[in-house]
Amino acid sequence: MPTPVPRSSLPGPRAPRGRLDALYAEVQRRDPGEPEFHQAVREVLDSLGPSLARHPEFAEPGLMERVAEPERQIVFRVPWQDDSGTTRVNRGFRVEFSSTLGPYKGGLRFHPSVNLGIVKFLAFEQVLKNALTGLGLGGGKGGSDFDPRGRSEPEVMRFCQSFMTELHRHVGEHTDIPAGDIGVGGREIGFLFGQYRRITNRWEPGVLTGKGRDWGGSALRSQSTGYGNVLYAAHLLRTRGEELAGRRVVVSGSGNVAVHSIEKAQELGAHVLTASDSDGCVVDEKGIDVPLLREIKEVERGRISAYAERRGASARYLPGGRVWDVPADVALPSATQNELDAGAALALLRHGVRVVSEGANMPTTPEAIRILQGAGVAFGPGKAANAGGVVTSAFEMQQNAQRDTWSSAWVEERLALVMRTIHDTCAETAALHGAPGNHVLGANIAAFERLAAAMLAQGVV
Ligand code: GLU
Repeated sequence: MPTPVPRSSLPGPRAPRGRLDALYAEVQRRDPGEPEFHQAVREVLDSLGPSLARHPEFAEPGLMERVAEPERQIVFRVPWQDDSGTTRVNRGFRVEFSSTLGPYKGGLRFHPSVNLGIVKFLAFEQVLKNALTGLGLGGGKGGSDFDPRGRSEPEVMRFCQSFMTELHRHVGEHTDIPAGDIGVGGREIGFLFGQYRRITNRWEPGVLTGKGRDWGGSALRSQSTGYGNVLYAAHLLRTRGEELAGRRVVVSGSGNVAVHSIEKAQELGAHVLTASDSDGCVVDEKGIDVPLLREIKEVERGRISAYAERRGASARYLPGGRVWDVPADVALPSATQNELDAGAALALLRHGVRVVSEGANMPTTPEAIRILQGAGVAFGPGKAANAGGVVTSAFEMQQNAQRDTWSSAWVEERLALVMRTIHDTCAETAALHGAPGNHVLGANIAAFERLAAAMLAQGVV
């Protein structure tokens, strides 16, 4: 257990480093057993020294403390009946972290690993990610420890209906706008929206994003996290004088982000060799066949091993295998938090990796980031590189507010523009603070400064 630090002992604004350490100790004391949340906060606090040196006003007592404390945390019971008529009880969460820059915005994750600490870390990351987009979005996240694996569609529907029966009182188009994340895709958003509409008797499409195209959804919403990350990786490569075309790329995961990362990287001429799930990975020397991968993962909701069985001689399945052991120029971790550890970073380096860009949220451990950055690898942190999903969610909200529908071409053009701006903001902010090329520092400082300035303007709330 860390030593508790009483609030009164926090040093004043003239000692920013000491204050940041004291705040971190306080977060550990107050939120025990939430290592992912501690990790996310630590990384941000470790970045802020140069910013506080330039902006003493951000060291005002109480401001940093509010950045690290959610505005509201909701935990609720989700009872539902399985197909045999047995009552099951899951736990639901919504952490409404910050509404300084706009309504709470962020996805829902349905996965057995979900707990309050995981949701809190995701919500904290989301606040900064959303600030970085330059759009009017606050940050939040939610989910449940419900495991959709092996559940029938009627079971998933009943679960979603029960989840929304409680969640509906907390969300709304001007209050809190959930979307998808792991385990929550278009099907689940449909069930959630249907229940919200039924309970509230309102056609309020702006309450959820990731809806179907025919009923208020945006073109490219499901593609945009993966597409955006590939664009970010391409910008990172370009600053090193390289193009994505012809590069060998490894992608982890086989969900929404991974599939669309593979699709976009291939469209830009890259050679994508891998995909994975929690059981193992596939390596396909001919390049991943996206239609086959989608058939298995999205239509059949099967396992990645089936890919190798059906693809033929070019593909092999490695039970328990890691994509990081496959030689590549670019790595796009797109599965889940802390999947790329120090050992994986060293393996990637041995094979000459030059760019790592995070499609998932916090997939790279702090030690792995240090190893990669220390070796000169261009590293795109998730809160910048995977912001494309929430950016297109904001486009969906804009279309809903205007009762308009944008073309795919228009969404893609705007997405590319925002991703470019996010990349340039991170690069310029890093250079300004004496750490050229360090997009972790650039992203954290740029996001924090936008948030902190707005918090100061809005007073102690
Ligand atoms: N879950 C996604 C993320 O991690 C999307 C959030 C949203 O669109 O609200 O950014």
